Parts: sequence; C-alpha cells; structure tokens
Amino acid sequence: MEYVRVQDVEIPALGLGTWNLTDDQCVRTVGRALELGYRHVDTAQDYGNEREVGRAIATADVPREECFVTTKLWPSNYRYDDAVESTRESLDRLGLEYVDLLLMHWPSLHVPTEETLGAMADLVDEGLVRHVGVSNFSRSRLEEARELSRVPILADQVQYHPYRDRSDLLEYCRQEGIVLTAYSPLVHGGLVDDERLAAIGERYGKTAAQVALRWLVQQEPVAAIPKASSREHLAANIAVFDFSLTDEEMAEVADPSALRTGLGWMRGRFGRRV
Ligand code: NAP
Repeated sequence: MEYVRVQDVEIPALGLGTWNLTDDQCVRTVGRALELGYRHVDTAQDYGNEREVGRAIATADVPREECFVTTKLWPSNYRYDDAVESTRESLDRLGLEYVDLLLMHWPSLHVPTEETLGAMADLVDEGLVRHVGVSNFSRSRLEEARELSRVPILADQVQYHPYRDRSDLLEYCRQEGIVLTAYSPLVHGGLVDDERLAAIGERYGKTAAQVALRWLVQQEPVAAIPKASSREHLAANIAVFDFSLTDEEMAEVADPSALRTGLGWMRGRFGRRV
C-alpha cells in the first residue's frame, strides 16, 4: 500500500468504495477487503450501509486506528443542528467513536456552506471527526470552502478517471496540499474492457482496470476508491503498487472525453448492451 501524505496526514492511496453494497454482501465485502490489506473505506449517509460497514470493521482483525473511514453528510442534513445530529447517528450506525473524514457530499444549494462547515468544525473539536472535506466541489467552490472553514479542508472527492480531465482541480490540490479522492475510478465499471488500457497493461501483466487505478495513484496527491464485490476484483484492485507507468504511458492513458465518460458510465450501469 502507498499513502497520500498531506497536512501531516497519511491516507491509504487505494480505498474501497461501497456505494450499492448493502446488507450481508456489504459486511462480507468490506470484511474481505480488510483481510486483503485495504485500510481505507468510503461510505456515506446516503448509501444506507453505514451499519454494515461498521459491522465489518468491528469484526475484522485490524486495529481501528489503522483504518481510514470516510462518511458523507447528505444535503438534507446541512443545517447546523442536523449536521451535528446526523453525524452522531452515522457514528452510532458505524459503531465508531470517530470517523477519519467527514465530507459534504455535494455543494449546498440552500444552506450557507459556512453553516455546514461550522458544524463540521465543531464535530472536529468534539473529537467525533478527525478531518473534514468536500465532495463534488469544483476548484472555485473548493477555494471558497477553504475560506469559509475554520479547520483545514483535507480532501475533495470527485469523479476522476482516464476519460475525465481534472487538471485544473488537481493542480490546485497539489499546490495547496489537499487530497483529490477519485470516485468512480473505473467509470462505474465501464472502463474495464478498454482495449487501449489493456494493451498498456499487457506489458506488465495487468488489466485495463489496474492500469487505470495505477494511473490515478501515481498522480500525487490522488487516492482512488474503486468499488468491487468479488474477491477477485478486490484483490486485483489493490495489486497496483508493484509496477509503474512511464511518463509516456501516463500521458497515453489520459484520454478525456465527455462522450466516453457518459457511455462508459451507462455501460457500467446497464451492461454491455450500451
Ligand atoms: P467504480 O469503482 O468505478 O466501478 C465499480 C464497478 O467496477 C463494479 O461493477 C465492479 O464490479 C467493477 N469492478 C471493480 N473492480 C474490477 C476489476 N478489477 N475488474 C473488472 N471489473 C471491476 O464505480 P463506483 O461505485 O461508481 O465508484 C466507486 C466508489 O466511489 C463508490 O462505491 C462510492 O464509494 C464512491 N462514489 C462517490 C460519489 C460521490 O458523489 N462522492 C459518487 C459515486 C461514487 P463488482 O462489484 O462485480 O466487483
């Protein structure tokens, strides 16, 4: 495992996404991931699986402090009191005394961002949250959030993969020491048959999915949180720290296209018919 290091914090560069993992399958998958060496788990109030994620962490043979756990506030909880109360409820469901990272899941449409970030900072003071961050924030929104928050913003979690250009946000994160956490790093599954990436992977005995993940974690300060449910996929996704892409390959992998992003996402969601 490699780590992203910003603001004196170490975050495992590869984590497990848990969107769409529910019930026993979620407990089993998170448990398996921890067995395989994952030490970073991403959930959210909206995923309806905090209880299952917590159960897996509680029964794993991994000390709590070694596991970096993120959850996210849903926008209907952005008012001060709701943010505080719903985070306590998240902790109850997770069975944890603190989360490592609490994110605003989306930019706020109705509640002043300052109010939500104020509640999140108070949760840090209380010891219930180690770090705060945002998700789906553009560079300008992130800059604004940093001005409004009295505690440092550790991370911005955004959709990032080879079909999506994030150079502007990435440059800012690099300059300011903020983790860019790449969600849907496999385009929701729509990238795993990419022949161009598979051809690069063949040189190293790796798959297209592994090339995409390597490409992400090789860019400082990027962490990636692929979701996987089979043991095979879980093991493959964490096996991206034993090879490196050359500068030419890094450039070759990046192939931004809104069309490919959209089609890939639909293919991942609805299968090969798209
Ligand atoms: P993803 O990680 O890009 O792709 C997941 C899909 O790829 C699943 O269908 C999975 O299949 C398949 N897969 C995984 N590893 C594979 C491999 N090695 N080979 C072939 N197929 C593989 O999709 P995502 O769930 O959209 O994104 C990941 C995480 O990001 C989410 O779970 C969530 O935690 C986070 N996220 C956050 C936001 C936000 O607004 N902040 C939005 C979207 C997602 P199996 O399940 O069958 O293994």
